[in-house]
Amino acid sequence: MIMKINVNAYAKINLYLAVTKRRENGYHDIESVMQSISLHDTVSVSVETGEKNEILLSCSDKNLPTDRRNLACRAAEAYISERGIEKIRVKLEIEKRIPVAAGLAGGSADAAGTLVALNALSPSPLTVDELCAIGARLGADIPFVIKGGTMTALGIGEILLPAPEMPDLPILLLRPRESVSTAAAYAKIDEKSLFHAPKPLSDMLSALKSGSADEIADAAYNVFEEVLPDGTEVFELKALLRENGAVLSMMSGSGPSVFGIFRTEAEAKKAADAAYLLGYESELCRPVPSENGSCGGDCAGCASSCKN
Ligand code: ATP
Repeated sequence: MIMKINVNAYAKINLYLAVTKRRENGYHDIESVMQSISLHDTVSVSVETGEKNEILLSCSDKNLPTDRRNLACRAAEAYISERGIEKIRVKLEIEKRIPVAAGLAGGSADAAGTLVALNALSPSPLTVDELCAIGARLGADIPFVIKGGTMTALGIGEILLPAPEMPDLPILLLRPRESVSTAAAYAKIDEKSLFHAPKPLSDMLSALKSGSADEIADAAYNVFEEVLPDGTEVFELKALLRENGAVLSMMSGSGPSVFGIFRTEAEAKKAADAAYLLGYESELCRPVPSENGSCGGDCAGCASSCKN
């Protein structure tokens, strides 16, 4: 019998991102507030009995690998091996909408979506925390995407604490043409010892609690902006968003995506028009609250596998 499920794999932005330490092993400790947004890939997963374990992946983005270099394949492999499952054929189909290598955790979202889907199809699903433990071994952002919503991330990103929910404000995403290297950005943070953020994480948590867009804007911080070269396109796009009414504009993660938070959808649309005239496509999104986990609440296994 073939069993199939579709899950929404949501992108994230960082409302706050500080690096606090470089560990001996080269990993970095962070303090971050992550937010799921409505931009999502769709991950369809079907399982049937096979002669041996087999994972087949197709992806709408033909530039992405469809073998185990793809994080979704590695997630399926990890789930099957962790559960000791044998003779299963897993078919994964990814409808890619989250831009790749953009600081929006697109690969992590697909991996998280795969884990959530396989777990929902399982007759004996793991708890969310058990699923997150498998995800954490594949990538630091994966536990967050499994849980979703607004979360404080500590450690290398794998320690998650619920944060006050972000108000439901329009978010406009812009993608600079220039790419960034995450490894080079971390190297610069190390070189400059940027381990003491000028604003504390607690300010962002209080701002979220207040629900005030202005307070959120004041408390927002991303250390990765500090290591961008002067004149980088990211700064132009941030300015464009601000000039067109954004309360806050900031780069997400290690970039290069830039997001603007607006008070009204009309303002966000006006900024989207201004960006379009300069040749930039944009994506209008909303925050996704945590009740939805990474499946958007529309998968059959939700009740058993996606309670946060
Ligand atoms: P993060 O915000 O977690 O740093 P990102 O959004 O910057 O991640 P991704 O879109 O996850 O970056 O892609 C990073 C790399 O992972 C790319 O070089 C890509 O080839 C690889 N990758 C593997 N699997 C996937 C996938 N399913 N979707 C996107 N990228 C993938």
